[in-house]
Amino acid sequence: MAAVLQYTPIDILEATVEQLRGTFNSGITVPLAYRKKQLKRLYDLVKDNEALLLKALHKDLRKHAVESIAAEIAPVTEECLWFLENLDALAKEEKVTPRSFLNKIGGSNVIRKDPLGLVLIIGAWNYPIQLLLVPFVGAIAAGNTAILKPSELSAHTAAALTALLPNYLDPRSYRIVNGAVPETTRLLELHFNHIFYTGNPEVGKIVMSAAAKHLTSVTLELGGKSPTIIAPDVDMQVVTNRIAFGKFYNAGQVCIAPDYVLIQRNQVPAFVKAFRKTMQDFYQDQPEKSEGYARIVSDRHWDRLNNVLSNKKSGKVIIGGQNNKSDLYFAPTVITDVDNQDESLMGDEIFGPILPVVAVDSIDEAIDIVNAREPPLVLYLFSKSHKITEKVLSKTQSGGVCVNDTLMHQAEYALPFGGTGKSGLGSYHGKKSFDVFTHERSVMIKKQSGDALLASRYPPYTQQKAGL
Ligand code: NAD
Repeated sequence: MAAVLQYTPIDILEATVEQLRGTFNSGITVPLAYRKKQLKRLYDLVKDNEALLLKALHKDLRKHAVESIAAEIAPVTEECLWFLENLDALAKEEKVTPRSFLNKIGGSNVIRKDPLGLVLIIGAWNYPIQLLLVPFVGAIAAGNTAILKPSELSAHTAAALTALLPNYLDPRSYRIVNGAVPETTRLLELHFNHIFYTGNPEVGKIVMSAAAKHLTSVTLELGGKSPTIIAPDVDMQVVTNRIAFGKFYNAGQVCIAPDYVLIQRNQVPAFVKAFRKTMQDFYQDQPEKSEGYARIVSDRHWDRLNNVLSNKKSGKVIIGGQNNKSDLYFAPTVITDVDNQDESLMGDEIFGPILPVVAVDSIDEAIDIVNAREPPLVLYLFSKSHKITEKVLSKTQSGGVCVNDTLMHQAEYALPFGGTGKSGLGSYHGKKSFDVFTHERSVMIKKQSGDALLASRYPPYTQQKAGL
């Protein structure tokens, strides 16, 4: 049987990079009319082929169309439309009033919005369209040429995008390279002007080291253990609905999924009761049969999640536990009475549908638990109190924060999205995506007239010129 995804031969990668650099140097990607045309074509690619892309996503992850349209298709099409509307304003050079007296004489300052050059975008498997094409929109809008490297794990989606891209966008300027570690390793040896990587922090370090050899800038969209703090003043049914939504979307394979819950000890019974009702409402207690519940991407990731459960040293499974490897089904799983020191549940990011619940005695204890780990990609807080919200915000760090909901901050493209520390470097979405792929080039233009007025800076230096 033919492989779903053809890997790009490693020996053509250097020539591909040279071709795309040549295209950039030719200047064709810079005029705004060209960028807009390509953005419109990317919009058409996704819209015309929506059914085909939904099918590919279903094959890769059994994603339901509701989730795929909301989290894969719409983010790309809406980002294209937003850039088509806002590109003129974004790309316009900024006039800057000189501050210094000498520069006010016969000169003007501007900040040009120049493209970076040839950029590399490396995507991850969990959102194989959004995570590849949303940064790509920013790269096109800013006037760059680009190589896209989809994740090999979401092979059907990568194959579909590879077939479609040259039919819609200019192949002189944009290419897809497919492959696994050897292909990506070779790509990373080559010179790019920016690398935009989404994936796990360990590979993030590899990407950053490779970029350092060329002093190439990087954006790293990584992961981590994103906590959810539940304060005492909540409507528990709303809380469990929203946590289950965020935790079991794409079967928990979401970088911003609530990783674990911190809740006051006396609220645990109410939390369990409400969570059971949520599961009944969402899946009629049969998630395995629900079309709305995705599958784990691969045997390796299923085994990883199974090991998290098998190796746990604490906790009671109050929801879930019935898993089926032959179908890559992993049940929504909630575990209470988890010990914060339990390495299996509380060590690494879970990245799947297992939710450990750790009981605490106070908000302060919850804050201490959060701060004992690396700053997460997102911090979730459920509270109606402004005072508690301010306290948690001012005493913690994280890439982003979402209060009284989950996931939705990532879908709000007016907000920059990214991590901090080990959860990421840099941010994107909307204007920020343009900034990521743009060099703000400071330009001072002076007139040749008025030299006598500037003579005080020329030698010979005198006490008078020094103002002494
Ligand atoms: P993955 O396995 O798809 O890897 C990501 C990319 O890195 C792929 O294109 C892959 O080919 C490449 N890669 C893998 N190993 C490599 C190596 N040794 N050298 C060079 N390239 C290599 O995805 P993953 O890493 O399993 O993704 C899950 C992680 O990504 C989680 O930690 C998650 O939190 C994070 N994530 C972050 C975001 C975000 O926006 N911040 C989004 C999605 C996922």
